[in-house]
Amino acid sequence: MPREPGIGRHTGASMASFTLHGIPVSRGIAIGRAHLLTPAALDVKHYLVPEEQVEAEVRRLQDAIAKVHRDLQDLWTDLPKDAPTELGAFIDVHALILSDPMISEAPLDIIRSRHYNAEWALVTQIDELSAQFDEIEDEYLRERKHDIQQVAERVLKVLMGTALSVPPPFTDEDQAPPQMIVVAHDISPADMLGFRDRSFIGFVTDVGGQNSHTAIVARSLDIPAAVGLSHASRLIEQDDWLIIDGDAGVVICNPSPLVMGQYRARQAVLMKARKRLLKLKKTPAITKDGTAIKLMANIELPDDCAGALEAGAVGVGLFRSEFLFMGRGAQGLQIPGEDEQFEQYRKAVVAMKGRPVTIRTLDVGADKPLDQTEHTALNPALGLRAIRYCLAEPQLFLTQLRAILRASAFGKVRMLIPMLAHAFEIDQTLNMIEQAKAQLRDEHIKYDEAIEVGAMIEIPAAALALPMFVRRMDFLSIGTNDLIQYTLAIDRVDYEVAHLYNPLHPAVLHLIASTIATGQKAGLDVAVCGEMAGDVKLTRLLLGMGLREFSMHPAQLLSVKQEILNSDLGAITSRTRRILRSMEPSEIATAVEQLQAL
Ligand code: PEP
Ligand code: MG
Repeated sequence: MPREPGIGRHTGASMASFTLHGIPVSRGIAIGRAHLLTPAALDVKHYLVPEEQVEAEVRRLQDAIAKVHRDLQDLWTDLPKDAPTELGAFIDVHALILSDPMISEAPLDIIRSRHYNAEWALVTQIDELSAQFDEIEDEYLRERKHDIQQVAERVLKVLMGTALSVPPPFTDEDQAPPQMIVVAHDISPADMLGFRDRSFIGFVTDVGGQNSHTAIVARSLDIPAAVGLSHASRLIEQDDWLIIDGDAGVVICNPSPLVMGQYRARQAVLMKARKRLLKLKKTPAITKDGTAIKLMANIELPDDCAGALEAGAVGVGLFRSEFLFMGRGAQGLQIPGEDEQFEQYRKAVVAMKGRPVTIRTLDVGADKPLDQTEHTALNPALGLRAIRYCLAEPQLFLTQLRAILRASAFGKVRMLIPMLAHAFEIDQTLNMIEQAKAQLRDEHIKYDEAIEVGAMIEIPAAALALPMFVRRMDFLSIGTNDLIQYTLAIDRVDYEVAHLYNPLHPAVLHLIASTIATGQKAGLDVAVCGEMAGDVKLTRLLLGMGLREFSMHPAQLLSVKQEILNSDLGAITSRTRRILRSMEPSEIATAVEQLQAL
């Protein structure tokens, strides 16, 4: 087994040093040994089954599919309480794929008609499906091909009697702690679960985009990762030393002792900084000149409240309620009814111990489809999503509004409405809230009569026609993820245009700044709850625009707080004004960097 460069030998073909550049998906530096996952699908046996054995071969495949169903069900059941919410959704997707007749029935027909062995029949069908997916223009849908291949691999592993390839115990001469980086053509999110408690410190894949399911899991697990490295799994050899620079999307294979030393030093600095940050948990977020800033948490499920409190959040700024609704079809469940929703919302409200909880009404559609509503809109991001969907399904919306209102009797709840663009949408929504209140009053059910209702500002039209919102709403929250997508016409899940998705585009900055200024002038609280709020490189720019409420993933909260503690609003504000006057992207980028250096 090769030893760390600089400690021992540094010879032989497998120790060749090279660097690969891919797409960064999760921050930090990982240094460890390569563990190659071999794709099961590549080498299957091909043979023809005699007529009298065809039905037995069909059963063999059916049994394998049933076993994978059970395995997925077990994974679901065994999900640790603190597992990222996306993991459950990913398992659902795989269960759904496995139940699709294209996977569960078509290969059986191939065995019967062509007498192929089970593995060959399955691979034949998957190859055909993959070719069809390759024709699809939509990058997000095209990426789903990998999900189908991952499901097929699970079935093949059962057929071939091979369990998921797990790394052997690390037996290094130096008794070094086991530090392993998984290298694969692709990794399914469900397989990643198996590595959660192992010595898995990063991953590298040939394929995948910034928003592939596996990338999302890595981000929520806070594990450095890089994807889209093309031939990494062929170039990297078992036990090679690897450095992943998750911020740059760079992987260095068998680095020189000098490079290894530099990265170890950088890693140590990062780790120390993380530890130091924990001390800030109880420190109020106040700028040097004494301005208090509210730091709130984005959550997907009520259990995430524990992490929010742990990070010192003063409330929940965005509860993405759609995560309660997604992926239930695969478990044979209906969408949650009023009582179930109420229990979940109440759980979050109680967990936050009097701190405000901002519950966003159902934001389904685009890349977050509800099982029952999956349809083939040509441009789903521009289609029937979020409030548009809710107003088209008034009964479902009313049920959610009642559930949220009922939870408001147990603590401070605010309601946040996504994707509003038209005055009549706001008016209809407010009317429905009144209707839900009236029903509860008639039924003598308690709720907070003064519950605040806010709008997500995430469509350029909303930002440009803000007085329309200001007149009608109690607070505003800027969804920069969608605001950037819709302002720049860049699909936020398409990695082919990811380089054009620029939060610092002057048009984007103008919309954010004017929303903050106009909203505040009218006396409304204005927050940012998109990813920009958690990007420490942008904290001062947002402060300079006048932002006083940030909502982000709990893992980002303490670094943002630290930046706030070191910021002087006076100096930042005048420079930000200059930045907002500029229409030169390079000038803006330089000035934003200089803001950080102040
Ligand atoms: C946003 O669009 O910025 C946002 C916070 O909502 P989501 O990412 O859920 O669309
Ligand atoms: Mg949004």
